Amino acid sequence: MNIPQSSFPRIIIIGGGFGGIALAKKLSGKDVQVLLLDKHNYHTFQPLLYQVSTGGLEPDSIAYPIRKVLQGYPNFYFRLAEVTQIDTEKRRLETNIGGIAYDYLVVATGSQTNFFGNQNIESYGMAMKTVPQSLNLRSLILENFEQALLTDDLHERDALMNFVIVGGGPTGVELAGALAEIKKGILPKDYPDLDTRRAQINLVQGSDRILPAMSEVASRKAERFLEKLGVNVWKDVRVSDYDGKQVTTNTDTSFEACTLVWAAGVKAVSIKGLDAEELLSRGSRLKVNHFHQVEGFEEIFAIGDVAQMETEEFPEGHPMMAQPAMQQGESLGENLARLVEEKPMKPFKYKDKGSMATVGRNKAVVDLKKFKFQGVFAWYVWMFVHLYFLIGFRNRVVVFINWVYNYIKFDREARLIIRPFKKEYQVSKKT
Ligand SMILES: Cc1cc2nc3c(=O)[nH]c(=O)nc-3n(C[C@H](O)[C@H](O)[C@H](O)COP(=O)(O)OP(=O)(O)OC[C@H]3O[C@@H](n4cnc5c(N)ncnc54)[C@H](O)[C@@H]3O)c2cc1C
Repeated sequence: MNIPQSSFPRIIIIGGGFGGIALAKKLSGKDVQVLLLDKHNYHTFQPLLYQVSTGGLEPDSIAYPIRKVLQGYPNFYFRLAEVTQIDTEKRRLETNIGGIAYDYLVVATGSQTNFFGNQNIESYGMAMKTVPQSLNLRSLILENFEQALLTDDLHERDALMNFVIVGGGPTGVELAGALAEIKKGILPKDYPDLDTRRAQINLVQGSDRILPAMSEVASRKAERFLEKLGVNVWKDVRVSDYDGKQVTTNTDTSFEACTLVWAAGVKAVSIKGLDAEELLSRGSRLKVNHFHQVEGFEEIFAIGDVAQMETEEFPEGHPMMAQPAMQQGESLGENLARLVEEKPMKPFKYKDKGSMATVGRNKAVVDLKKFKFQGVFAWYVWMFVHLYFLIGFRNRVVVFINWVYNYIKFDREARLIIRPFKKEYQVSKKT
């Protein structure tokens, strides 16, 4: 890997997501050598992936080069590498570009879509966890409308314009709202020769309310906002199968839809060598103590989505969200510096700053500790917070300009099919 030997202890961080980047920044200037490994050379701002999928933003504006984030940090190295195995006894990592030893290891590999073992949904459904996946979804949505124009079969046309989003968490709600905005503001202009009023957006939620992690009032309001936008909200319905066209549920409800987006679950990204059953809790998260040490190891830590720290307040671990990941990264940065100076570490305490979701133009729901509000002001707060946490001045400016432009023009100009995406069944049908 071409990393020089150093008299400082070597800390390897796997993953340049919210947790890994916050940790690396905190270690800047400390007496340590830091090596950050990521299989992508960019950090992804996942909360805005849905805007890439719906043509509201270009992918470059929500991704940021990891090397640039950490430019000028002393004793700092980045390698574009996928970690494939951890040898905890030898304190070594294996990657696709070679092996390397560590003194301290931090696992910050985040999470991936959880299809709960349903192979059909995994094959035919769409995930939205990475930039390439969001671009696939963008292409598929646009391709479906192009195809809908060509077919004489009304059933087929409706299926092409029928969208099923599984999972009523923030991702599902935000995507459904954005699609509804497209149906209202863009499709009639782009496709004047297609009856786009027949397009359907279905949000399917397994429990009795959407946004279950937020307050009841936020759930109710978000549902009302979605319904006003024309989204069909299905509660207490669980999708059980999908063959690329037919969506089956545990109830009498079924859908014929060429697009199913699976936003109904995530599980941690574990790595071989640190994936023994006794180390993992629900959702494959690594069990950690209050200092983020993986159970049974003093020199291995985990933060962010991949870590499960059980506390009195959060018996199931902290929410798999950006805020806990960042706070954990910062706390671990301080603790690693203390550890190197042979000072005692401080236990992590999560400060819940609240949660929010947007439901389309002028509409959002915000739950803060003391205040809960919904509507236009909540939407401004949502925009401000997302701009604030985006990495990079250029990205903030570009996103802000895009939002203002989209707002004034009722438009989303990034609706481009750059890299066509074809689902298997559609390909076989064509040939
Ligand atoms: C669509 C969507 C919307 C979201 N919206 C919100 C929101 O509104 N608010 C909110 O707070 N949270 C939101 N989240 C959740 C939030 O993005 C995550 O909780 C957060 O990214 C977790 O940070 P992390 O550092 O643990 O992992 P991540 O940010 O996922 O970073 C993990 C990194 O590890 C790298 N990696 C993984 N495996 C390996 C390997 N083997 N080798 C090398 N590198 C590896 C990955 O490339 C990635 O860069 C959303 C997530 C998604 C998918």
